[in-house]
Amino acid sequence: MTTESDLSRARQATRQAMTEVERLDQRQSWCSDEALRSTLHNIGQRKSEQTWRMLAWLQHHEQHSIPISAPDPGQPDMSGHESDAGQPDTPAPDARHSGQVDLPAVGTSDGVPVIERRQVSPDLIVFRVSRPAGFEFSPGQSVKVGLDDLRRSYSIVSAPHEPFLEFFVELTPGGRMSERLRGLQVGDSLALGTPKGGLRFDNGMRNHLMIATVTGINPFISLVRDYLHHGKQGHQVLLMHGASYQDEFGYREELEALADAHPDLLTYLPTVSRPDEPRNQGWTGHTGRVDSLVDDVLEHHGLGPRNTRVYACGHSGMLEAVAGQVQPRGFRLETESYD
Ligand SMILES: Cc1cc2nc3c(=O)[nH]c(=O)nc-3n(C[C@H](O)[C@H](O)[C@H](O)COP(=O)(O)OP(=O)(O)OC[C@H]3O[C@@H](n4cnc5c(N)ncnc54)[C@H](O)[C@@H]3O)c2cc1C
Repeated sequence: MTTESDLSRARQATRQAMTEVERLDQRQSWCSDEALRSTLHNIGQRKSEQTWRMLAWLQHHEQHSIPISAPDPGQPDMSGHESDAGQPDTPAPDARHSGQVDLPAVGTSDGVPVIERRQVSPDLIVFRVSRPAGFEFSPGQSVKVGLDDLRRSYSIVSAPHEPFLEFFVELTPGGRMSERLRGLQVGDSLALGTPKGGLRFDNGMRNHLMIATVTGINPFISLVRDYLHHGKQGHQVLLMHGASYQDEFGYREELEALADAHPDLLTYLPTVSRPDEPRNQGWTGHTGRVDSLVDDVLEHHGLGPRNTRVYACGHSGMLEAVAGQVQPRGFRLETESYD
């Protein structure tokens, strides 16, 4: 059986890893050299994934008190034995890319633990849950998430190769699920339905204009992470992201780093619709509602209906505004409405 001292060592190693991830994040935000910032981002992302695997292991053993047996090469060894580097043995950073590593099969779709929660802004959170064994989905799909008797659909931000499921959720004041999720904590248990619907990347088109309001970015992140994971080439993605406030771009760092690292593939265009509000002080990027910039982007990038697929995700008002602009010109539009 897992002993308290095993768990204690595992907790210590996890805390240390979390501190290192935080330091990497800070260094990345201070760094002005773009190439170095991108390298730090990649290191930070891998380190963070290792950390989440460790957290999942810890959660699993704390909840179920699973006996520690001979190390399973497919799972992180959190037994506290030091490796040559003086750190607990965790999978090699790139192991997930070769498909060697999976999260421990924590829970079932009826109850998966929350392994990470990040507050993006007062009304926006990102959280990750362990991915139950056998939970398969396509990039860009959504799934019903259950908390007690409530069920709501959420797009999956993570890509299928990632060993966790990630969600970016707007906590709508007065909303029943939103108010429950406001108090969500690491270790809470959520139910998952069957993944369905979603936006699919049209490989036959060269250009992809993706338009999102706040959490509508989610399926697009999944599609981009999946695209890069498979080492695909030859497409161009223009990702337009609208929000009222600059602190609502929950994936800005990741997307800017990816755009820097893959300029031929990705252009990220965040825009704030309330530039004069104090919360947007210092903002130097695009301004205006995201749908009001579509014309300019189409023209500036020479996008036409024969070489471009348009996708829009978020609230229905934005989807209708985009449809009114692109459909009369012959663009095919794929949409995902959140209301
Ligand atoms: C396919 C799909 C994917 C989705 N993906 C995401 C996603 O990735 N991220 C995300 O954040 N959302 C997503 N959504 C939206 C999500 O499913 C929920 O609709 C949203 O979280 C609101 O649920 P709720 O229970 O909090 O609100 P509900 O209780 O269902 O209320 C619905 C609306 O009524 C309003 N309301 C309710 N009670 C009051 C009150 N007392 N006073 C004032 N207003 C009130 C709420 O503000 C809310 O706008 C998705 C929806 C769909 C259909």
